Amino acid sequence: MNNVANIRELSGEIDELRREQNAVILAHNYQRPEVQDVADFVGDSLELARQAAETDAEVIVFCGVYFMAETAKIVNPRKRVLIPDLLARCPMALMLSPEDILESRKSYPDSEVVLYVNSSSECKALADCVCTSANAPQIVKAMDSDTVLFGPDRNLAYYAQKRTDKDVVVVPEGGNCPTHHQLSLVDILMAKSRHPDAELVVHPEVDPGIQELADGIESTGGMLRYCRESPADEFIIGTEEGMVYRLKREFPGKRFYHLSPPMLCPPMKSLTLDKVLDSLRGDRFEVRVSERILREAGKAIDRMLELSGN
Ligand code: SF4
Repeated sequence: MNNVANIRELSGEIDELRREQNAVILAHNYQRPEVQDVADFVGDSLELARQAAETDAEVIVFCGVYFMAETAKIVNPRKRVLIPDLLARCPMALMLSPEDILESRKSYPDSEVVLYVNSSSECKALADCVCTSANAPQIVKAMDSDTVLFGPDRNLAYYAQKRTDKDVVVVPEGGNCPTHHQLSLVDILMAKSRHPDAELVVHPEVDPGIQELADGIESTGGMLRYCRESPADEFIIGTEEGMVYRLKREFPGKRFYHLSPPMLCPPMKSLTLDKVLDSLRGDRFEVRVSERILREAGKAIDRMLELSGN
């Protein structure tokens, strides 16, 4: 575990190399506090994709999981994109294969395919459009077909289905985020009994039964807006615990509570400051995407950015 002096020293070295190399550090809201603090920009998947598309920096150091770094490369292929830990892979993204999509297309030949950004670039290359948790209902609604094949998160599919007139079919049937899906009603009821005045704000990756109990269902970017605009002073946060750090940093006058046990995403937490520094020092690990995937997955991501107002 890094102590304060060590964190300061590592952050100073990262800062120097970042300037020398004209690099930008992008970090997801679930990253460790010290990684969030050293980043140039912290945000959700959609915000980070936009930042990656617009940056003037020559190098993007992406502190998140692999599919996010791949997305950064696809939206800005001329940049060098580095991920400090090559093994930081989202288990939900690994639940969906290109074969699953091809098979489902055979069963629903008139349907369009919307994939959550939490999927591999090979899968995105087979999609009609990509979405994030910030825009899933908006993207599903915008599709031309009445039935939409949606993967890989069944809970986000439920959230989108409830907000559109489309028939949403989940591919693969049981896809889920282990970090969010393990959250139980008992965890929620216990948190509510400990903090009876707090609003419950959850991520759409949680189980539908918990979504129904929540005051707000938001992407991590949406949680910032929700907690800013809500007149409440206290919030129980139903997503990965890194978000609680982000909220406390943004709104020091309000109170934010973890659930118990805290929700942790191991691959997100595998990135440390030492790895960020090694990444800048050793130019590693560079994310590479084939020309075909750049072209085909790029179309699906660009369509999302257009439909969601970018
Ligand atoms: S929180 Fe869930 S969906 Fe997000 S990266 Fe971790 S495992 Fe994947």
